[in-house]
Amino acid sequence: MAAGGYDLEEIRQRADIVELISPHVALRKRGKRLVGLCPFHQERTPSFTVDAETGLWHCFGCKAGGDLFRFVEMIEKVTFAEAVEHLGRRLGIAPRQPADAARQRQRDRLLELHEEAARFFQAQLQTRPGKKALAYLEHRGVSSQAIEDFALGYAPNSWDSLLQAMEKRGFPGQELVRAGLAAPREGGFYDRFRDRLLFPIRDAGGRVVAFGGRALSEDQTPKYLNSPETPLFQKGRLLYAFDRARRAMDEAERAIVVEGYLDVIACHEGGFAETVATMGTALTADHVEVLRRRVPQLVLAFDSDSAGLAAALRARELFAAAGLSVRVVTVPEGADPDQVVRNQGPEAFGALIAEALPMIEWELTRILAKAEGADERARMETFQEATSALGRLPAGVEREYYIRWLARQWGSDSAERIAAMESAVRDQLARESARKGGGGRRMKRAAPGEEPVKKQAPGRLPVGRLQTGLLAAFLTEGALAARYAPKLEPEDFTTEEQRSVFAAICRLLDGGEAVTPKAVLAELAPEARGVLAEIALSDVPPEKAPQAAESAVRRLVEVRLLRGETVLRQRLEQAGSASDREAILRELNESRRQRSELAGQRIVGET
Ligand SMILES: [Zn+2]
Repeated sequence: MAAGGYDLEEIRQRADIVELISPHVALRKRGKRLVGLCPFHQERTPSFTVDAETGLWHCFGCKAGGDLFRFVEMIEKVTFAEAVEHLGRRLGIAPRQPADAARQRQRDRLLELHEEAARFFQAQLQTRPGKKALAYLEHRGVSSQAIEDFALGYAPNSWDSLLQAMEKRGFPGQELVRAGLAAPREGGFYDRFRDRLLFPIRDAGGRVVAFGGRALSEDQTPKYLNSPETPLFQKGRLLYAFDRARRAMDEAERAIVVEGYLDVIACHEGGFAETVATMGTALTADHVEVLRRRVPQLVLAFDSDSAGLAAALRARELFAAAGLSVRVVTVPEGADPDQVVRNQGPEAFGALIAEALPMIEWELTRILAKAEGADERARMETFQEATSALGRLPAGVEREYYIRWLARQWGSDSAERIAAMESAVRDQLARESARKGGGGRRMKRAAPGEEPVKKQAPGRLPVGRLQTGLLAAFLTEGALAARYAPKLEPEDFTTEEQRSVFAAICRLLDGGEAVTPKAVLAELAPEARGVLAEIALSDVPPEKAPQAAESAVRRLVEVRLLRGETVLRQRLEQAGSASDREAILRELNESRRQRSELAGQRIVGET
């Protein structure tokens, strides 16, 4: 079979499905397969599964799946023919007949041109005029290793040095214009980047797709000049150094987001290789989406007075919808992460990260700081601002916690004042939510990038399958039963039959007997035997059983905790006294802690 002149079988054989998917999904080994967070639907526990041997992938969440061509079709949003061509070119396979894909050819040309240009700029750094840029980098403390790693370069102070060099390599001026590297002028073209330090910007696959240029003299404007948007480069989708940070993100299970190129480089040099930067834009929904697929937590380390932080605050709903936990580093006034790492050392930066506040707390702290020494009216405004910040948190444990936190900040050391503040905050919240409700949707402020927040219940629960799979694993592997059954309770199973099978297993274990299907069968009442056969025959490959069992147990315990929390929250709403509320909150926090401990162990997911 051929598409666009390509031999599909040849592509299939030469391509590595894992290599193809890895830039888009952080894959972890699970048994013989690899799993990760599905790039095609929102999820918090990995159900996207790849089998390297067969070259197939499947998402148990959204049911998307197929082979490598299907993956490319979906991820690049292209047609099947385009996917084939994309893969063929990537693998360097020549089509048997020339395919008509002018667009793809143009992209390839642009990529080649960027590689060539990056090499050219890099070489300029070592020339006499480039000394200036090199000296600047040295002055900023950038090591020669980092200069090499990030392929930094220098654009000479000339109108056409890149144009000339590229022309010699077969790229006419018009192509440089298309790449955003030159601009047209009467009778010709001129270089876009002149007398600038250049940072090549790479896509997730590590290919140069744009440049960021920093001015080297005081009178040069703007200070930072980026490539314009091109078919290769949409700055709202790319994060600087994402290609280099991917692996470290997987390990650290977080991403540090900074604003500047030099911040990124300093952080990587200081051992924080999970750092990326936005490029002159606020974090967009696309950025958040890219990060969400990779990590559960973001640490924002922006300059203390930057527009980026204000924008990040506006993106709160995005973070919440993505299920990302976001913490904010307070960089000392007038400094940026680069200076902290360079001047005070990586340990100092690490300490700032360790002290980073959850976004809401950081926000409240800033609001409160404004009220210090202010007059009565300003204090009133502060109160309202803080309360509406709280109002943006979904009702729940976290909000409860911060209502009390806020009251304590205000009430200082007087228990009476704390209680008074707490009820004032609650009243104000109730008024605001009534107003919002009364005013209808119209009242809802449309923050930039705001997206529907709900959509997803906290944790899809394909529990039935988990329960069956787990009992099946217990039956095939007696050791698993001995290890995990004590962690479970009969209520963790939904149906009567499942419970009776579980109870039978527990009885055998208690009596010191081996757990086998036969032994369990003997323990069971006749009416429960049908379900035992079903369970024993369900498809749980023995080699996968230990991991599957462990993750299933965690999930069931998580479900149990969540169920308990729902009950606690109902009780919280009806709680009369403050001390009752406090006791319930303590229980809720304990449950949450247990859950995050479970999540911290990381092997959650379905069988
Ligand atoms: Zn999916």
